[in-house]
Parts: sequence; C-alpha cells; structure tokens
Amino acid sequence: MSEHHVLNPATEDVVATVPASSESDVDAAVRRAVRAQAAWAAVAPGDRSRLLHRCAAAVDGHLEELARLEVAEAGHPLGNARWEAGNARDLFAYAAGGVERLTGLQIPVAGGLNITTHEPLGVVAVIAPWNFPLPIACWGAAPALAAGNAVLLKPAETTPLTALRLAELCLEAGLPECLFQVVPGAGPVAGNALVEHPDVAKVVFTGSTPVGKRIMAKCADRVKRVTLELGGKSPNIVFADADLDKAADAAPASFLDNTGQDCCARSRILVQRDVYDRFMELLEPAVKAWRVGDPTDPGTRMGPLISAAQRERVRSYVPDGAPVAFRGDAPDGKGFWYPATVLAPASPDIPAAVEEVFGPVAVVLPFTDEADAVRLANATAYGLSGSLWTRDVGRALRVAGAVAAGNLSVNSHSSVRYWTPFGGYKQSGLGRELGPGALAAFTETKNVFLSTED
Ligand code: NAD
Repeated sequence: MSEHHVLNPATEDVVATVPASSESDVDAAVRRAVRAQAAWAAVAPGDRSRLLHRCAAAVDGHLEELARLEVAEAGHPLGNARWEAGNARDLFAYAAGGVERLTGLQIPVAGGLNITTHEPLGVVAVIAPWNFPLPIACWGAAPALAAGNAVLLKPAETTPLTALRLAELCLEAGLPECLFQVVPGAGPVAGNALVEHPDVAKVVFTGSTPVGKRIMAKCADRVKRVTLELGGKSPNIVFADADLDKAADAAPASFLDNTGQDCCARSRILVQRDVYDRFMELLEPAVKAWRVGDPTDPGTRMGPLISAAQRERVRSYVPDGAPVAFRGDAPDGKGFWYPATVLAPASPDIPAAVEEVFGPVAVVLPFTDEADAVRLANATAYGLSGSLWTRDVGRALRVAGAVAAGNLSVNSHSSVRYWTPFGGYKQSGLGRELGPGALAAFTETKNVFLSTED
C-alpha cells in the first residue's frame, strides 16, 4: 500500500503519514458499506436521530483536538479551526434533527390516496477538498447518514487527518461499523474508484471545476446521482451610496479568510467610480491590519497557503508588471506564505480577474452604474456567491435578483450557514447542500397511489 505524507503548511514538517487506498481497498470498503447500509435503513428514525446526536456530542467533546488537527494539516488559524470544529458538531446535530422531519407529501387525487416517500439511495461517496476539510466532509456525510445511507469519505491527499478522526469519533459514539468509512488516497485512484463503482449510488464532489466536469461525465454512464460544489470568482459590489467604512472593513475578510482558499472568496471587488478613490484609501489599512503568521497563535487571522504548488499557482496570477496597488506582509522562511495582494485598478480581462486564484489576491474593477455592475458581476463562467453594498433597498433586491449566483449577501460578506441552502449557478456547481433540503438530496422520492375503488 502506498502512502501520503501530510505536511504542516506553516512549517513544512511531516505531521503524519497516511496509507493511500488502492482500487481494491475501495471495492472492499464499498462492499462493507452495502451491508452496513441495509441494516441502517431499517433502524427506526428516532434511533437514527439519537445516534447522530451522539456523534455530534462526540465531536463536541473533542473540539480542541479536531481544531488542532485542522491547524496542523491545513494551516488554518486556530480561531478559524475552532469555528470549523464547532461547525462539524452543528452539522451532525442539524442532520440528526432532520431525520424525523424527512416527511413525504399527501397529494389530492381522484379515486384513491397519493403519497410520496423518501428512500435512502444506498452508498454515498463524499469526495472532499483540502480548503475546509472538516466542515465540507460533514456537509455531505452528516445528512447522507441521517437519510439512511452509508458514507465513504475520500478526503484530499493533503488533509486526511480530521476526516479519519471524525469517523473514529462517530464509531466510538455508537455509529454501526462500516457505515461511515474514510478511504484516504489519490484522487485519480481512490476518488475515481468511488466514482466508477457500480454500488456507489451518489457522488458528492467538492473541488475544482475541471475535476468536477470529469466526475459528472463519468456519473452520466450510469445516470449516477451527483452533487457538485465547484469553483467560484465572486463579486463584491460596492455602490456609491453604501456605508463605505463598513464595506471596506469587511472586504479583506471576503478574500483573505482561509488565505483566499475559499470557493466563496469575493476576489473581484467592483467599486462605483464616484467612490473609487475613497474606497481604496479605506481598503489599504484594512488589508494591512490583518495579522499574518503562526496559525497556532489565537491572534493570527491569516495562515499559509496549503502547499508549495498552490503558492506557485497564486504567484502566476501576479506576474511582473501586474498592477499591484498594495500588499500585506508575509513571514519569511519555512511555510507556504504569500502576502495579501490587491491589483487595482485592474482590467476585467486579466487572468486574476477571470479565473479562480484560490489565494489572497483581489482585483478591484471600477464600474459606472447599476447595469454596468451587473454586467461585470456576471462576466464569468462561475456563479457561486457575491456581496453587494448599498443603502437602497430597491437596488439591493434588483441587483441580488440580477446576479447569477447561488448565494448573495447584502451589506455582509458571509454566505454559508448550515441551515440555509448552498450551491452554485453556472460552472460553480450542480444541486444544493445544507439547509432544509439537505437530507432529501440523499433520497429518491417515490410516489405511491392507492386506489380506493371497489
Ligand atoms: P480538486 O478538484 O483538486 O480535488 C478535490 C477532491 O477530488 C480531492 O479529494 C481530490 O483527491 C479528488 N480528486 C481529484 N481528482 C479526482 C478524480 N479524477 N476522480 C475523483 N476524485 C478526484 O480540488 P482541491 O484543489 O482539493 O480544492 C480546491 C477547489 O475546490 C477550488 O476550485 C474550490 O473553489 C473548490 N471548492 C468548492 C466549494 C463549493 O462548495 N463550491 C467548496 C470548497 C472548495
């Protein structure tokens, strides 16, 4: 069996060595999962719910340990990692609460009774990325389990540790053996084996758009169910009538949180020309105030990038001659550091304005009026998130309606709450996760008509 070394991105030290699953390992795991799922689907909803609440409690009892693992494998600042561990707990608790609310419909018909039921799909593969390893694993795993499925979780090569510990904790909490298994390994080997396996009923993939497209094409062979959460290039639109102090204060978090490795990063800042100069004066100190450095220090706001390869990729978006308006600091020495970088005023067709950088780089693009802002906001293949800043309620609603994205915030930079739906338009994805429909996405709806005629 081959192995992956897990590196701490802040120090480049090896923190663990994890076996890489082969195709036959995946096949064996799927077979075990098929058996476990059959028994799980027969468990009474109340008991399923209770067990998942115990999983949430087990996560709650190990928040600090999980957070420290996330710091070690992903380089996240401790404060962020603690939030992520709490989010994992909340996702299990929310899914547990959903079990008994996964109800069907009774639809009026002539000559009988028509009802719908939700049936579990069977074995679900959750293929997760490295940017939010623990929360995103739970986005898929918790509702899939709650809806009566077995889950095989394939974490990213760089960040398998929180996934492995999460599954152990769930087992210790009483979740049946083999119902929730982690198959660490390479995407093209372990991930692909899950995608191609005939007994995997659904693939939930979170990752890059190119890999997502390949997975969708493979799923098409069997009309396998698929949810895709892919890349983004989201706008942060600042109108002249906005509270500029608030907008500028929030803008750094929109592209520096998680060192910009966030599918929802608002890395295209669109600013109305009338307030462009004033906004830039406010943005610079706000960006420079971000404390960058040792992720284990609770005061740190920005850590390193995930890997040397990712840093090279980010660098390639800021070539010599790029319109750098200003930059933040970054430590020297070991670790995959990259400074906050603002390109402004930028042309809307430079690669950093069009492609997902996945690093702490933002472009600022001036616009003239509302129509121009909407046109620029939509001038991308993606459609995941976005923010708009204005005091005009009518404009807020018009622009929120006109921007083709799944998650928009008005006068706020946040987009993800586990109890509201999340997903992308266009090439940012397919389907929705989280929110009231989270469990139903892991079921087939069956319609049953009972005749009452003699
Ligand atoms: P990635 O596509 O390289 O990998 C994601 C996962 O897929 C990993 O587990 C990887 O091992 C696996 N994989 C790779 N090739 C595979 C294959 N051929 N078959 C099956 N599995 C395969 O993405 P990444 O670099 O880990 O993550 C960054 C990307 O994720 C960014 O584009 C980001 O926008 C996106 N993302 C999207 C969301 C969202 O909700 N929309 C959330 C987080 C990250």
